[in-house]
This record gives sequence, C-alpha cells and structure tokens, in this order.
Amino acid sequence: MDEFSLIDRFWKPLGDAITRSEVIEGIGNDGAVVRCPPGQNQVVTMDTLLEGVHFPRNMPPHALGWRALAVNLSDLAAMGAEPLCFTLSVTLPEASESWLAAFADGIGALAVQENIQLVGGDTTRGPLSITIQAQGLLPDGSAVRRGSAQVGDRICVSGTLGEAGEALNWLDAADAPAPAVSAMLERYRYPQPRLALGQWLREAGACAVDVSDGLLADLGHLLVDRGACVDWQALPVSPELVSLRGADGARRLAASAGDDYELLYTWPLDAPAPSGPNGGTLPQTVIGTVTQEAGVTLLGPDGRINIAEQGYTHFGAHHG
Ligand code: ADP
Ligand code: MG
Repeated sequence: MDEFSLIDRFWKPLGDAITRSEVIEGIGNDGAVVRCPPGQNQVVTMDTLLEGVHFPRNMPPHALGWRALAVNLSDLAAMGAEPLCFTLSVTLPEASESWLAAFADGIGALAVQENIQLVGGDTTRGPLSITIQAQGLLPDGSAVRRGSAQVGDRICVSGTLGEAGEALNWLDAADAPAPAVSAMLERYRYPQPRLALGQWLREAGACAVDVSDGLLADLGHLLVDRGACVDWQALPVSPELVSLRGADGARRLAASAGDDYELLYTWPLDAPAPSGPNGGTLPQTVIGTVTQEAGVTLLGPDGRINIAEQGYTHFGAHHG
C-alpha cells in the first residue's frame, strides 16, 4: 500500500467520522483551515509516543491509538479547554493493514467520544513513533494555569492513582488475567482524559496539572515556588490495586508512578470541598495542603516519610 492509498483508506475516514463546524478544510489539502470562534482562544499541545520508550514493543494497536490521543486530550483537560481538532504524524516500519485498521479504530473511538476532528498529518516509514498535536478552545481571558496556588490551599486529585503504574508489571500477563489485573491493564491502555473536570476547574478558577509523570513529580510542576504537605493515608487507591499490592504498596505506586492522567489541582480552604462536574460521579480527594516552603513533605501515621533519602523503592516501608 502506498502513502496515498493509506491516507484514503485510514486517515480520511477517521477525519470524516467527526464534523466540527470550525473545520473549513480538513484532510486532503496541503494544510487544514480551522476557524477560531469569536471570543475564544486556541490551546495547542503536542505529545510523541516512541516505541520502546513511551510504550512497550507489541502494544495492541487499538490501545496505542486511543492512548496517543488520550495523552494529548489530558493536556487540554489540564488547561480547562474544550477539544477542537488534531493532527497526526505516524512513522511506521511497515504498512500492515490489520495493524493500521485497529490503530485508526482506537483513535477514532476516543475522537468520537470527545468530538475532536482529525484535520491532517503526515505518514512516513521508520521506527514506530506517533505524534499528535491537539488544539482546544478556551473562552478569551481564561485558562487553567500552574503555579498560582496560595499557602493554605487544599491539594486535590481526581479518581484513583497508581493503577497504570502497576499495569507495567502485568503487560506480559496471560490472555485472561484475573479481574484486578484486567482493571490495571485497562487503566494503562485506555486512559480517560478528565475534560469535564478541567472545564469545571477553569470555571472555578483553580490551577491544575495532569498526572503523567507521577503525583510527587507533578506536584512540583503544579506548585512551582511553593511546597506541599501530603497525607500519605489520604492518597486515593482502588480496591483492585490494594488487593494486588496491599494498602502500603498501593500508596507507594499512587505517590510515584505515572500514566494515570488524573488531574491534580489546588482548591481554596474557605470554599466547600470540590465536588467535580456532573453531580460528582468522579471522586475528588483532598490529599494535602500548600505550604510556604518549597518541597513536598509526605506525612504517614508515624510521622514524616523522607522521600529524598529513601527514594522510590524504599520509602514508606514502615508506614501504612
Ligand atoms: P504534503 O505532501 O503536502 O505533505 P501529504 O501527501 O503528506 O501532503 O498528505 C496529503 C493529505 O493527507 C494532507 O491533507 C495531510 O494532512 C493528510 N495526511 C497525511 N498523513 C496523515 C495522517 N497520518 N493523518 C491524517 N492526515 C494525514
Ligand atoms: Mg504539500
């Protein structure tokens, strides 16, 4: 299959699956033409997924397609934006039709779910690598930013953490793994970008980041020149993760592992606790407080857990 039949067979139908009124010219020209509605600004973000670096060899193509779009949508969510359109650069060692069909289906499933239109891209031969550049819309004058937290603000996180990190231990699991293991793998393969929450946080004036590198690392990105005191026992973990790792092991993953794509945000102390959008269907957990001094303190039941000295593999061994 040459490059052009590949575009006609896979990318054009994917672009046609969603019709946004802002898209004037989609796939088929030398560039796309997209209108920005009056009173709105465009948010632009990009992420590359490289085989062997960001995902394992032989990752199922349907999940890879979903995930490639999901990590970009998660950045739009963290900005409080509404998805608009995206471009897709695919580098492939060979044009396998079954692989491409499943990959395109995986992207399409999430694109339809979030109403984001594919408007162009590039297709080249080489080591497997996927780059998506996504665009979203924000009302003029608004954005969810990092680094404007006040000392004393609550620190909150959506959903549960640590499951995608645990999934890395099970990528070679048998075809029909135990239900708890399946739940971990699902979380890793099909991250759900928290778009409704991001827009809700924007309206509330919160500052936020998405948890892609791990809670402790991303807390540093969120707070910039402030610090945090985090309650070890408040870290939200799923019963499935606890069943596999125990409460303490689950919290260790929740603190350090990445790839969960929840939103981490600050919330004023004098406001009612955050409910999140849609009547609070996604749990929102207060995990700590913004402090004046920089750095993150983790407080366990027996006192301070020193991450810097104990590192990822050891900290928390006597806690929980
Ligand atoms: P050009 O030679 O001008 O770069 P191409 O021949 O590469 O254009 O692409 C033709 C059309 O197909 C363009 O509209 C381009 O955006 C689109 N396209 C190519 N690859 C992809 C892809 N992976 N996903 C979506 N659209 C693509
Ligand atoms: Mg051209």
